[in-house]
Amino acid sequence: MIKSNRHLSWAEPYKIKMVELVHMTTRAEREQAIKKAAFNTFLLRSKEVYIDLLTDSGTSAMSDMQWAGMMRGDEAYAGSENFYHLEAAVRKYYGYKYVIPTHQGRGAENIISKIMIKPGDFVPGNMYFTTTRLHQELAGGTFVDIVIDEAHDAENEHPFKGNVDLKKLDALIKKVGAKKIPYVCIATAVNMAGGQPISMENLRALRELTKKHKIPIIHDMTRVAENAYFIQRREKGYADKPVAAIIKEICSLTDGATMSAKKDALVNIGGILAMNSKKIYEEASNMVVVYEGLHTYGGLAGRDMEAMAIGITESVQDDHIRARVGQVEYLGNKMIAAGIPIVKPVGGHGVFLNAKKFLPHLDQSVYPAQTLAAEIYLDSGVRSMERGIVSAGRQKETGVEHRPNLELVRLTIPRRVYTQAHMDVVFESVASVFDDRKKIGGLKMVYEPKYLRFFQARFAKI
Ligand SMILES: *Cc1c(COP(=O)(O)O)cnc(C)c1O
Repeated sequence: MIKSNRHLSWAEPYKIKMVELVHMTTRAEREQAIKKAAFNTFLLRSKEVYIDLLTDSGTSAMSDMQWAGMMRGDEAYAGSENFYHLEAAVRKYYGYKYVIPTHQGRGAENIISKIMIKPGDFVPGNMYFTTTRLHQELAGGTFVDIVIDEAHDAENEHPFKGNVDLKKLDALIKKVGAKKIPYVCIATAVNMAGGQPISMENLRALRELTKKHKIPIIHDMTRVAENAYFIQRREKGYADKPVAAIIKEICSLTDGATMSAKKDALVNIGGILAMNSKKIYEEASNMVVVYEGLHTYGGLAGRDMEAMAIGITESVQDDHIRARVGQVEYLGNKMIAAGIPIVKPVGGHGVFLNAKKFLPHLDQSVYPAQTLAAEIYLDSGVRSMERGIVSAGRQKETGVEHRPNLELVRLTIPRRVYTQAHMDVVFESVASVFDDRKKIGGLKMVYEPKYLRFFQARFAKI
């Protein structure tokens, strides 16, 4: 049974016990700061930021229960009690048999890619994620996008833009053969598409198809709770199913998972690798000691694992997830009402501005989304980030820049951190930049790192 007061509007199912003061800056100070950061919001210092919507990763506010759990850290090198609490939470809420903690999501991606991918393999996925694709490539694989076309269209209002196009997968299997596909990588609430969900119906059909060819499904479950909430709201037959039950059903249709616990699972650091195969578990247990730490801590302190175990439990509660997504939609709906172009439908973890439409006079080669993120910061001290051509990087073989259809600025909402008044201010700032958009000029890249360039690239005004 779902206990939410569904006849009332969303509201936070918690109250505030402690606050952290934030920094206000002047426009002159922000001009200095963004220049010093070479127009990359990743290079700003957090004290230069007023409302920090860079990412929802590791930026959640933990509950009093999680903080209490931190005090119960069992800092044993091996066999910490907290590991067993984490293992129990993963089994109870996600259903995977085996779990290995990792320092964060990419630690799990590294291990699973190294175990399962051979050079020359192809790894299909419902849109790429930056670190996920890089680990697949470093292991010798080639990522193949099999998400439905609608996902690459910011304006398309398909309710499940995270769905797999089964025809694309079928064509790939026919072309390269199932033996060259070590697994299909399925993200829930697809980050790069704007936090868009996959439907249970699509996942079930994918399960059927992959079963026929004996191809496993590895689940990037970083935002599984948000995805489950969209299924509850949008998919036939799920309106009265608790989010926790929907999450368990999603996981049951997959063979293993990587998770950045810094997002849905409400912790500041941590990740997991989970699976049902004993053989892969044993290989992963062996490999984790090389890259992360012993299989019962994987680069985390005992206290971090305890906070994660409690965070997982809190993250699957209907009231929590309704308020979390409700806040994101509140901001998104204000933008839509004002005619500001954003990705629709509003996603689960942030509002994504469509920079191509926001700054139509800028060609993608002068980084419109990167430019827009810098302009919003200048206006108000609100920090967002680029999700477009800079994030997409270069093609593995040719070195040519990927030119993604989506050229976006992500206003990512940390969980349980900001108030509705903060959302109003964010909207006001974006609206004021929108009013002056015609005066905005582009950027050129003056330093490009080799890996994941968006984090550390440097830009200058043209
Ligand atoms: C953040 C994220 C990752 C990587 O996790 P980290 O904890 O940052 O290493 C992987 N997949 C998705 C979808 C993510 O959002």
